[in-house]
Amino acid sequence: MKKFSFLLLAIVVVIFTGCKSVKKTDNPFFSEYKTPFQVPPFDKIDSTHFMPAYLEGMKQHNEEIDKIVNDDHAATFENTVLSFDKSGKLLTNVSKVFNQLTEGNTNQQLQDIARKLSPLTSKHNDDISMNEKLFQRIKAVYDKRFEMKLDSQQIRVTEKYYRDFVRSGANLPKNKQDELRKVNEQLSLQTLNFGENILNENKSFKLVIDNKNDLEGLPQSVIDGASEAAKEAGMQGKWIFTLAKPSWIPFLQYSAKRDLREKIYRAWFMRGDNGNKFDNKEVIAKIVKLRYQKAKLLGYESYAAYVIDDNMAKTPANVKQFLMKLWDASLPVAKKEVIEMQKIIDKEGGKFKLEPWDWWYYAEKVRKAKYDLDDNELKPYFSLSNVRDGMFMVANKLYGITFTKHTDIPVYQKDIETYEVKEADGKHLGILYLDYYPRDSKRGGAWCTDFRSSGWEDGKKVDAIESTTFNLSKPTADAPALLTFEEVTTMFHEFGHSLHGLFSLGKYTRTAGNVPLDYVELPSQVMENWASEPEVLHVYAKHYKTGEVIPDKLIGKIQKSGQFNQGFVTVEYLAASLLDLDYHSITSPEDINVTEFEKKAMGSIGLINEIIPRYRSTYFSHIFDGEYPAGYYVYIWAAVLDADAFNAFKSSGDIYNKQLADKFRKYCLAESGNDEGMVQYHKFRGQEPSVDPLLIRRGLK
Ligand SMILES: [Zn+2]
Repeated sequence: MKKFSFLLLAIVVVIFTGCKSVKKTDNPFFSEYKTPFQVPPFDKIDSTHFMPAYLEGMKQHNEEIDKIVNDDHAATFENTVLSFDKSGKLLTNVSKVFNQLTEGNTNQQLQDIARKLSPLTSKHNDDISMNEKLFQRIKAVYDKRFEMKLDSQQIRVTEKYYRDFVRSGANLPKNKQDELRKVNEQLSLQTLNFGENILNENKSFKLVIDNKNDLEGLPQSVIDGASEAAKEAGMQGKWIFTLAKPSWIPFLQYSAKRDLREKIYRAWFMRGDNGNKFDNKEVIAKIVKLRYQKAKLLGYESYAAYVIDDNMAKTPANVKQFLMKLWDASLPVAKKEVIEMQKIIDKEGGKFKLEPWDWWYYAEKVRKAKYDLDDNELKPYFSLSNVRDGMFMVANKLYGITFTKHTDIPVYQKDIETYEVKEADGKHLGILYLDYYPRDSKRGGAWCTDFRSSGWEDGKKVDAIESTTFNLSKPTADAPALLTFEEVTTMFHEFGHSLHGLFSLGKYTRTAGNVPLDYVELPSQVMENWASEPEVLHVYAKHYKTGEVIPDKLIGKIQKSGQFNQGFVTVEYLAASLLDLDYHSITSPEDINVTEFEKKAMGSIGLINEIIPRYRSTYFSHIFDGEYPAGYYVYIWAAVLDADAFNAFKSSGDIYNKQLADKFRKYCLAESGNDEGMVQYHKFRGQEPSVDPLLIRRGLK
């Protein structure tokens, strides 16, 4: 995952009374950081510094914007677009630190501050995006961008800002703006309703087991978790399974009780569709209609057209064609998987037809028989320090860069490691933080962010300070941290995001390394490919005790396991992506009947009865109350790109091909924001990406 800070989104400000006043001289945010490489002085920052820094940051930012809009001179690139691009520096600095601490090392005080900040975030952003005078000055530059003798990057950043304003309605007549504001208000209300209904539906179901026989097939660790959940609910001695994925998925995978599997899976896929007060069907109909109205107001044929116009894919038709290509390849494989599992059922004398709630259970049997890969067998070869050195080695072979450990750089938690990254010629490139282990103060998952983006100031390059955060297996009393292979790929993934930030060379904040949603996972996912290459594994995957190189038999298993159950995985994902695209492609203000709509959409692509879309409409949070409306496709779009990019290396006969690495660094990383994503990719690859490498990787071709 990559956390991006867009100028307008990152700036969070609050009018806040009652905060402890801090003398200006004591607040480390108010002066240049006097630290090695000017990293944030984490050893001097405490929670009382944030609110005053935010307040001051807001004040400065407003003054900067006032200065732009009240300039008596005609708008130029420098006095308007550039000034706007450089504005809000203090605010950006403080929010980068604050955001990382609230997610990576939080406490009650930080949470309280965050809560007070949040309702006012949108107000500050709105004040900027609705600043009519500011828009008019940016528009003035935009209208004359070709006469002003601007270079291509100046034109691009001007166009980006202009589009940002236009896409939020700045160019509409007053009455249409009012209409848009009303649509936006209703949309935020309905998306809130959608999310609350799901929360309530999640809470309202529990599978309570009080008969030990009903635990048949479940591994002890799963039983223990369910017993713990029952204890917490005051039902000591029983077992509880819920609609959280880590609870119901293992149940479906292992439970031999077919009726109970059906019960819990039905509860999962009927959420929001039960005809009770938490039903989401009406809410969806409203959201879809409102989004259509919004798109129409902004001059687009459909909401999907509005969203995708800003992405690498450009049009809904391109996305549809792309998804269908993958669909046609994966559906036959899923059908074969059904046949394979039905054979097991028949052989066991099951006398029933495979149903959706049987899939995980029989797939697990197939996995055991054909792909058995035991994490415990692998882990000794993946000590954290070996994996880290392995990924540094890959980056060194590809790009010549080196990593030097530092112990004098202030960190916000004592076991964080910091490295100075240098170019092949020894020139400083940037700083990398690695925060490895879980703790109570850290949220789940893994992510990459930065404390300073690379850019330009007063004609000089500013180097990036990248930060990666993980929740990896910890060291134990008698062994170092030993990772599962999934954790290994997670490390390579976040490291890939950090390389994108370190290499980024753009001059302007709005465009430097700032790529659309369907591009952002390319730099990260591509690195995962190297992690599982035998040539790479032979170097870094060594037994932590004996130093023995990982046996080829295990490498074979790792590679083969990547193809397990991929028909199902791809089909359930694509079904949801196509459903998302259909909802947001309506071109008239239809009153949708959700049940019929979903049925028709899935029927038209020939989804088989044994598979349900990864998310059905009534609990499809990504698109109805999340960040991915008309954008659920981006995960597999980026997967196609990363597989195709890696295939370029692989088919050249040298996975460290220097020429390709130079091109990838230049066009896809350093200059990624300089032009449209596909244009940049084309410069690297010399052709459009093909879906074949992904299909082959997943065993679908
Ligand atoms: Zn990512």
